[in-house]
Amino acid sequence: MDLGIKGKVALITASSKGIGKSVAESLSAEGCMVAICSRNKEELLSSTADIKKKYGGDPFWVLCDLNKQKDIENTVTSVEKQFGKIDILVNNCGGPASGNFRDLTDNNWQEAFEQVLLSAVRFSNLIIPNMILQEWGRVINITSLTVKQPVDNLMLSNSLRSGVIGYAKSLSNEVAKFNITVNNVAPGYTLTNRIYDLAVHNSKRLGKSHEEILVDMAKEIPMSRLASPEEIASAVTFLASKQASYITGNTIHVDGGLIKGLF
Ligand code: NAD
Repeated sequence: MDLGIKGKVALITASSKGIGKSVAESLSAEGCMVAICSRNKEELLSSTADIKKKYGGDPFWVLCDLNKQKDIENTVTSVEKQFGKIDILVNNCGGPASGNFRDLTDNNWQEAFEQVLLSAVRFSNLIIPNMILQEWGRVINITSLTVKQPVDNLMLSNSLRSGVIGYAKSLSNEVAKFNITVNNVAPGYTLTNRIYDLAVHNSKRLGKSHEEILVDMAKEIPMSRLASPEEIASAVTFLASKQASYITGNTIHVDGGLIKGLF
């Protein structure tokens, strides 16, 4: 199926590896010009080389710490200078620290707020005015299953991700008349460094090896396995497509059936 986004410019944030990198690959496969960013230059160089080798084009990278407003401004300016516009914004971020109410400091909360919610607001504020002028745009936020079903020991994600959903719904109402859609993809447990690190972190607390924790996670999921990052990226790419033009203000769970609720 032709998704109708060939030649569109996509900026994917926090994308040097994991789900963000997979989204960049999937959009490149559809003929988008992609820009990736993160704090890690080596990973960015290696990921842009991978993408170029697999899909051609000229993937662009920018060093960016999502907790720094100046870096966010520089990223948007650099991508617009490189490609002339941004049509698709994928707001991804690093996962917030794990911990329960006794563990988390004010500083943890502040950093997580800046990374998870404020970075999405800042990128959207800088990019949407041009999407309005061109009367087309896609904003897709990568959130988490925690927006529907809190996960033990992930208080920051459980709290702040819902803010992204509320923000996206409100924003979607404001910009729908300009052919700009705003949606969220909520991954379930996905095989990336993030899930591996969480399993290692939880192994002491739960008295189990990280391998056992990953097996236990899979047992919770009706599909009996974790997602691949590509399966999350496919949903993001569909939401970016021409065919998804009437879907806005929505959250799609890509979780193998893990969320137990009806909606
Ligand atoms: P990952 O750790 O594999 O990759 C995270 C990416 O974010 C990397 O490119 C890293 O360099 C970048 N990053 C981290 N902090 C940054 C910062 N301050 N500034 C700029 N870039 C930064 O993680 P992932 O599994 O791909 O997860 C992506 C998002 O999806 C995270 O927010 C995560 O919490 C969420 N999520 C993941 C899972 C899962 O099971 N993997 C499940 C639900 C939600």
